[in-house]
Amino acid sequence: MATLSAENHVMAQSVPARWWHVQEERLVCDLCPRSCSLKDGDAGFCFVRENKGGQMVLNTYGRSTGFCIDPVEKKPLFHFYPGTSVFSFGTAGCNLGCKFCQAWEITKSREVLSRLSQQATPEMIAETAVQMGCRSVAFTYNDPVIWAEYAIDTAVACRQRGLKTIAVTAGYICPDPRHEFFEVMDATNVDLKGFTEDFYQHYTLSHLAPVLDTLMWLKQESSTWVEITTLLIPDANDSPCNIRRMCQWILRELGDEVPVHFTAFHPDYWMMHTPATPRRTLVSAREIALEVGLKYVYVGNVLDSPRQSTYCPNCNQRLIERTGYEIGEYALLDHRCPSCGCDIAGSFAQKPGHWGTRQLPIDMKSLQSQQELQNQV
Ligand code: SF4
Repeated sequence: MATLSAENHVMAQSVPARWWHVQEERLVCDLCPRSCSLKDGDAGFCFVRENKGGQMVLNTYGRSTGFCIDPVEKKPLFHFYPGTSVFSFGTAGCNLGCKFCQAWEITKSREVLSRLSQQATPEMIAETAVQMGCRSVAFTYNDPVIWAEYAIDTAVACRQRGLKTIAVTAGYICPDPRHEFFEVMDATNVDLKGFTEDFYQHYTLSHLAPVLDTLMWLKQESSTWVEITTLLIPDANDSPCNIRRMCQWILRELGDEVPVHFTAFHPDYWMMHTPATPRRTLVSAREIALEVGLKYVYVGNVLDSPRQSTYCPNCNQRLIERTGYEIGEYALLDHRCPSCGCDIAGSFAQKPGHWGTRQLPIDMKSLQSQQELQNQV
């Protein structure tokens, strides 16, 4: 099977894809548990991997829906170099079918393929991120699992320049590619969308077990820093009983130090008639998680400083004050509580970054033109 190298695919659109096999004149994709079986000319559920004349191709390598410098808190990652900036980008498509998708214009609309106007090689992305002073590069906005070849090549280029790498994903990936994908990721936020198979099947057109398997594998087999996000949707996945079961599972299988973010849904895509998540649901989910024994639990998509700040799990001193994405008072000494010396899980620099809440779109086309002009002078 063909492998990719960034040099070979500058500005490419369709490139040979990896992780597939032939079965009865069809190509079966082995990248995610959906196992799409494609005859010539077919595209998979994610619509970015296609059978073209008996070869599997990825049609979004080197193409993006946009680049933006975000605060790391937006991913969300609260225990990974707080306050720093992250060069972030995504492509198109998704391997899940969430009815509540909050980014459906890029994940579900195939028209987006004609609007992938921003182009960049892995080297260009790494170079630009360094020039812009970013601490990390994030593969986000749509699930990077479906464009794993591009994400992996970019992650390698970023690490060579001393950047950290971040994957924001639903964790719906098969064991073989999983190893290669997360091997080059320093941190990940895994979207655990609910805690019943019914919810996963009905609302996301996928299955719960592979996601739990990825989370356990990350904990046991990889050195990637993991945080979990669950979007709480009224009357869909917000029952206190399920939230408790989920937290008990996290405690038992992943330990008490995995940060968990409960975030608020707003009406979108096929769920325009479902109301936004009330604040009390987030508050009560957080209380359940703390009661169960998880140490770091946050609420998101609302402003709630007391429930977005980090506290010492031993003496309860506030260590990192946050309001939304903004870092306030920062009391951590390296990675320890200054009062009792308790070690706080995660990756922390001596001082927080100062990126604040800015979200700065980056136009790679005009940056590249400027660079060419400078080179000519
Ligand atoms: S990655 Fe795409 S093509 Fe491959 S199995 Fe998943 S949805 Fe299907």
